[in-house]
Amino acid sequence: MHSIFEIFKIGIGPSSSHTVAPMKAGKLFREYLFKKNILSKTYKIDVILQGSLAFTGKGHGTDKGIILGLSGKSPEKIDNVTSKKIINKITKNNLLTLSQEHHIPFTLENNVIFDYKTPTKTFSNVMIFKAYDIDNKQLLSKTIYSIGGGFIKEKNKKENIQNTNFPYDFNSSKNMLDMCKKNKFKISDLMMKNECTLNNKTQVKNKIMDIWDTMNNCINSGINAKGKLDGQLKVKRRASEIFKALKKDKQKDPLKAMDWVSLYAIAVNEENANGGKVVTAPTNGAAGIIPAVLKYYIEFTKKSSKEGIVRFFLTAGAIGVLYKENASISGAEVGCQGEVGVACSMAAGGLVSALNGTNAEIENAAEIAMEHNLGLTCDPVGGLVQIPCIERNAMGSVKAINAARLAMIGKGNHKVTLDEVIKTMMQTGKDMQSIYKETSNGGLAVNVTEC
Ligand code: SF4
Repeated sequence: MHSIFEIFKIGIGPSSSHTVAPMKAGKLFREYLFKKNILSKTYKIDVILQGSLAFTGKGHGTDKGIILGLSGKSPEKIDNVTSKKIINKITKNNLLTLSQEHHIPFTLENNVIFDYKTPTKTFSNVMIFKAYDIDNKQLLSKTIYSIGGGFIKEKNKKENIQNTNFPYDFNSSKNMLDMCKKNKFKISDLMMKNECTLNNKTQVKNKIMDIWDTMNNCINSGINAKGKLDGQLKVKRRASEIFKALKKDKQKDPLKAMDWVSLYAIAVNEENANGGKVVTAPTNGAAGIIPAVLKYYIEFTKKSSKEGIVRFFLTAGAIGVLYKENASISGAEVGCQGEVGVACSMAAGGLVSALNGTNAEIENAAEIAMEHNLGLTCDPVGGLVQIPCIERNAMGSVKAINAARLAMIGKGNHKVTLDEVIKTMMQTGKDMQSIYKETSNGGLAVNVTEC
């Protein structure tokens, strides 16, 4: 079972599946070259991208993620400025540094191949890495899949997850809730017991607060940034102007809190769109929802506390794990319901938990939030994580708060279970045409004029 810290990971934008995972895959391939002692013989590396990575990889920074990974960089350790420096150096000199002594010819145009023709079978995001010697003899080939939320999986190998031996391992929401009932736990208690097999309680809390600090810094960076976002759409950043307008507006409006929530989500996703430092929650495209809803808890609800923040993350993480293990958190696999839909569901459950709601209310909130995201397609305009993604995070945040409130008013009485809605989301994703699954071949992507 996954730890919550595999769901909430610090990385860079704009996409967990298309930037973060390719970076990890590139780094992994480089490590293979080292381990197999063939790095110094390597003279050429080709990377073939298939499926959604081919169709939207350019706009999502897949090629850049790959060269950063091949240069030995990890998503959690790199910042936007360093990554731009490395990429500029490689594209200027047409040389990739594999080690201090070993540089090979490399250009994005020649060595990163976008294969639009080969249909993908097992997973929608495929990367094939090939290394050759000076005589063009193949030294190594590895096929690696990006399976959503920054996770990768090698062909014919199990997914490389943290080796956990959790005392309360669960494979469904029912299973999790039954264990909570039997032990008189809240969902957050159960998750804390699990996480304490990897870290002690203080460390878990500190790690959670680090994640929250990164999210909060991202909100602030987004609010302070001005100008246009990277990419051919030349989308103007809105967060700083919304912030100014909200500060200036002194009128009493009961829904003003919602405008602040939208601002927080937009600020994070504008940072993400420009390759900034974000926390995948559970993906980068949907990275604004958890921070926006948590900030709402801190700023607009009574008696918010550090303990409430910890409960929020533990519970939202548990819900994220349920989706990751029983369905998908990949837009390329199930559409945006797997990204914004899952983030909305996680945030709704997390908010109820922070507000000290019951387990039934948490389940209900998470279920409502997904039920009304079912069928949400992924159709990013120009292959960029900007339209509809940025605004969609604002909508998802408001919906999460609404779901939490409805669940708490209704005392958690509900007919549809969280397991049922997770199953439905996965089935809906399978039935969805590939043009709506992060290929930019349908929906808004084909109907919006790009300039
Ligand atoms: S539409 Fe949704 S799933 Fe697709 S790239 Fe945007 S945020 Fe991600």
